[in-house]
Amino acid sequence: MSSNFPLNHDELSKLTKKFPTPFYIYDEKAIRENIRYFTKAFSIFPEFREYFAVKACPNPYILKILAEEGCGADCSSLPELMLSKMVGLKGDYVMFTSNETPASEYQYAFAEGDIINLDDITHIEFLRKSLGKLPETICFRYNPGQAKHGCNSIIGKPEEAKYGCTREQLIEAYKVCKAGGVKHFGLHTMVASNELNPEFFVDTAKLVFELSLEIKEKCGVNIEFVDLGGGIGIPYREEQKKVDLEYVANEIHKLYERMIVPAGLDPMRICFECGRPITGPYGWLVTKAIHEKHIYREYIGTDACMADLMRPGMYGSYHELTVSGKENAPKDHVYDVVGSLCENCDKFAVQRPLPKIDIGDLLIIHDAGAHGRAMGFNYNGKLRAGELLLRENGEVMQIRRRETVEDLFATLDLDGVANFR
Ligand SMILES: *Cc1c(COP(=O)(O)O)cnc(C)c1O
Repeated sequence: MSSNFPLNHDELSKLTKKFPTPFYIYDEKAIRENIRYFTKAFSIFPEFREYFAVKACPNPYILKILAEEGCGADCSSLPELMLSKMVGLKGDYVMFTSNETPASEYQYAFAEGDIINLDDITHIEFLRKSLGKLPETICFRYNPGQAKHGCNSIIGKPEEAKYGCTREQLIEAYKVCKAGGVKHFGLHTMVASNELNPEFFVDTAKLVFELSLEIKEKCGVNIEFVDLGGGIGIPYREEQKKVDLEYVANEIHKLYERMIVPAGLDPMRICFECGRPITGPYGWLVTKAIHEKHIYREYIGTDACMADLMRPGMYGSYHELTVSGKENAPKDHVYDVVGSLCENCDKFAVQRPLPKIDIGDLLIIHDAGAHGRAMGFNYNGKLRAGELLLRENGEVMQIRRRETVEDLFATLDLDGVANFR
């Protein structure tokens, strides 16, 4: 079940006078409480670390809150590395999990001392050429292929996924790196997305622990940290339940005691690089009903669109939607709540039972705090919504303004076109 929106109807109405819709709003207090719960669940591992997946919510204010709470950053590109640096994260607090990476990005990560997580065995030589040597610490991404079943629709089956190395390649890769002077080693995998079954993460840990033992035996390499990836889901739907992180942590700990300790690999750092379960439930897209139409279905048109929140259009994802001030009203109407993009998949809700919506009503789209604003785009000349932060003291500050037409045209050479014949 998605978490409650932190502002009542009067507070939200007042806020929209200062910050017109649409906008994203994040709840600092809830994000802090949530990350504390997350790290506490895993505190059974003294060296546990969560590397927040920057791509989920790439705003430096959010990153700074999470850095203050002890998180590192998991980055997939140069701008994400730069954002992490901007908030003071560096060295082994930054994990660079990229794929198809240009040399210049490896060079930047290396210069900052960030942990480089290689996606493929051929990237060892690519990295050596890019840097002139290998870094002291290297991590590899493992793709278990058919060894891991039951994967879900966003990432798909591992054997069809472009990411990571095979088991055989990894054995070879660690040998090559050891011979090449690499001193510290990590092992990473990420095989799920938005998964709610806790057993899934326990199984993944088992797979990665087994492989760590094999690597020790065959390569003489001690894996010092394992990164179990992201993929912990959130309950987007009313009837879904949060992943029980204490259960996951305790089960992984049992495996650790049984496998890692006897093999002499203790202490080994356990890491996650989650985005969705950290900020997802604590960010909302607020939009206004500006049109209604009555054809074969009942439609409500909003001032936000799929360019602000792509998940429903792209994956058919469900997001809870509430009407501010009508939380307790009977859901006796059925609507398609739609945005203004010239694409028929631009629907925030499809055939959804909702209270009667009037023009001017404020609609709250829940669980938009991860992979929300971040996935936005400018197709159809759409200008993306800004971002607000509800502080712990109740104040609201703008942490990203709305896009303007000038932003959209900034990459065009407008002087050139004036003289173009
Ligand atoms: C997207 C991604 C994450 C974060 O996934 P969430 O579902 O937001 O937790 C972590 N690691 C990698 C490599 C990713 O691609």
